Amino acid sequence: MVGLDIAIAGCGPCGLAAALLLHRDGHRVTVFERFETPQPIGSGLMLQPTGLAVLAKLGLYDAVLARGARIDRLFGKAGERVVLDVHYAALRRRGMFGVGIHRASLFAILHYALIQSGIAIHTGHTLTGSDLMSSKRALHFADGQRSGPYDLVVDALGTRTPLALPTGRELAYGALWASLDWPQDAGFDPHALAQRYERASIMAGVLPIGTPPGAVTPKVAFFWSLRADMLDDWRKSGLMPWKARVALLWPDCVPLLDQIEDPSQLTFARYAHRTLAQPTEPALVHIGDAWHSASPQLGQGANMALLDAWALAKGLAEKNNVDEGIRHAIRLRRRHVLTYQCLTALFTPVYQSDSRLLPLVRDRLVGPLSKLWPATTIQAAMVSGLVGNPLPPLDLGWDAKI
Ligand SMILES: Cc1cc2nc3c(=O)[nH]c(=O)nc-3n(C[C@H](O)[C@H](O)[C@H](O)COP(=O)(O)OP(=O)(O)OC[C@H]3O[C@@H](n4cnc5c(N)ncnc54)[C@H](O)[C@@H]3O)c2cc1C
Repeated sequence: MVGLDIAIAGCGPCGLAAALLLHRDGHRVTVFERFETPQPIGSGLMLQPTGLAVLAKLGLYDAVLARGARIDRLFGKAGERVVLDVHYAALRRRGMFGVGIHRASLFAILHYALIQSGIAIHTGHTLTGSDLMSSKRALHFADGQRSGPYDLVVDALGTRTPLALPTGRELAYGALWASLDWPQDAGFDPHALAQRYERASIMAGVLPIGTPPGAVTPKVAFFWSLRADMLDDWRKSGLMPWKARVALLWPDCVPLLDQIEDPSQLTFARYAHRTLAQPTEPALVHIGDAWHSASPQLGQGANMALLDAWALAKGLAEKNNVDEGIRHAIRLRRRHVLTYQCLTALFTPVYQSDSRLLPLVRDRLVGPLSKLWPATTIQAAMVSGLVGNPLPPLDLGWDAKI
């Protein structure tokens, strides 16, 4: 199918990638976003070989690599015990690595491509709902305006989308995130995501994220796990006791902590686990976090969103009507999505919970075993987003450059 009128709701990675792919396939695409100036919220994220495969198809692989930081290893310690040591090289395939990137970099790269393509973006439009008009769908906005009807509305509004009924649950834990200058002499590996744990209730992480727009030197995303109900106490106590706690856990972080002078430098992100059982409705499809969201423990959300966008374009290209096209797209993705929703739900409490037993098993049993083959390969596949072999059904290659 070509020449459909498609509205894309949301300017996150999912909406932007879907807009580019559907425009390229000959559809008339209009994008709506609530912010006046489209902007990413938060600090860094990790792109995996799955997401990179889609970005390569968009011709954006080199731009992402240039802005981000190549990640070859994920490394975590609890006290002196190494409990996480994942090397992408264990997969023994070319092009297997992650990319740590500031959200602003990923956003800027996709947004620039959209502008270059001449795709219309309507900012300052907060969506509140949609309704079906015969076989088409119209959009409603907070200011009472309407738009459409469209042959298809793509809901890429993220986890709190107003276009679907609320579902799922908020997790007890989230994390404080900050983007800081890369500490030159602190001994961090510029190609590793490093973490420190104490039980499952305390976790700190350092992710290289390259050089975002407007910066001239490399940055790092620093995160500190925190229960949402402790956020007020954390704010009231001031920075000093918290800094002392972080430094006690991980002395190498002192040069990072020295850059934090105001609590507003840290953004609290609360995580939710939710999966829509039925992500298609007549002339409406929910993709990315609007379909499924999870804690970022396995670092897959943005990558899943990019795969969803790719599958949507493929589904529409291969079928002769909109509803068949979107159902086909969801079929192409559903198994992989459900696999990772389950894996993330399984692993999140091992790293973020009040459990005493799970971290004990992690540190004493799983940690040591995970250094042995085939656990090394299984872990690398899991982190890369490749469990369940998601790329071949989408005609995407293992090596993003192919
Ligand atoms: C702290 C944190 C760390 C993460 N780390 C990783 C990681 O390492 N790797 C990874 O792959 N994923 C990670 N994720 C998950 C990842 O950020 C999401 O999965 C991804 O951003 C989903 O993309 P999306 O486009 O579907 O939704 P979003 O990025 O949420 O984009 C939704 C867009 O819709 C707009 N919008 C929302 N509501 C409305 C409305 N009513 N009207 C108009 N516009 C609206 C928003 O402004 C936004 O632009 C992390 C998430 C968090 C919170």
